[in-house]
Amino acid sequence: MRPEARGAIMIVDVHSHAWQYPDHFSEEFRLQARRARAGVEVDLTVHYEEYRDQATDETKTIVFGGKAKLSGLWVDDRYVARYVESDPGHLIGFLSVDPTQEGWDREMREGHLELGLRGMKLLPMYAGFRPDAEPLNPFWEYAESHNLPVLLHTGTTFISRAPLDVTFPRWLDPVAMRFPDVKVILAHLGHPYEHECVAVIRKHPNLYSDISGLHYRPLQLYHSLMLVQEYGVWDKILFGSDYPFTTVKATLDGLRQLNTMLEGTSFPRLDEEEMEAMIHRDSLMILGLE
Ligand SMILES: [Zn+2]
Repeated sequence: MRPEARGAIMIVDVHSHAWQYPDHFSEEFRLQARRARAGVEVDLTVHYEEYRDQATDETKTIVFGGKAKLSGLWVDDRYVARYVESDPGHLIGFLSVDPTQEGWDREMREGHLELGLRGMKLLPMYAGFRPDAEPLNPFWEYAESHNLPVLLHTGTTFISRAPLDVTFPRWLDPVAMRFPDVKVILAHLGHPYEHECVAVIRKHPNLYSDISGLHYRPLQLYHSLMLVQEYGVWDKILFGSDYPFTTVKATLDGLRQLNTMLEGTSFPRLDEEEMEAMIHRDSLMILGLE
């Protein structure tokens, strides 16, 4: 790791998970998760010490569990709140809701008001709903009136029963028109629908995207960040890891190696200053979480 990444310069990881593996997952979810890495089961156990060891001392981390009945994932927000309590100087917790399930609005208020969680996480495709659907209006209204940033999964999955049709970045366009003040992060650049993600975040000032969980497909990530560069939206891209799928250090190394793939070619380089600015972006300030 480069010296400037250790020590004084802050990094904000906007995307990491806290859960108990395998207890919080259905067996079907675990079996199908092998598709994430071409047939090899990924151990999704969260070891916070390992996470810290693979991050810089100054890394601040947004952490959430996830709720999606349809796909077999359910992490109670109390678990996330306890996790945050273990290191409140570094961790910021987000609550999760599955709006297809009864009581989601009560869980939202509890997570915010009783557990002190400071943003919200949605898994539209895993749970099977569209983020711009009418029943979600109370969710977005709550986010707006309490200044809670929202991070939602966009992009594909390995779960058969999770419908792709609801995962497209385009569904955040109507949300941003109705609720322009809500800060929203579209996770994973909407992979492999990055073109839609770039189109949507460029037109709405409070829509952002994160680069979490993408570095292990380097050619695709190079191409995606060239889209970001050519459309002029580097300033809308936030750093994230997607731990435990990967770590902060592996993500930093993966990003900084992208241009080395181009040696011996005349392909355009990713702007390394822009990339370092993204890595050190003060996402907590952007999201109103300082
Ligand atoms: Zn994730």
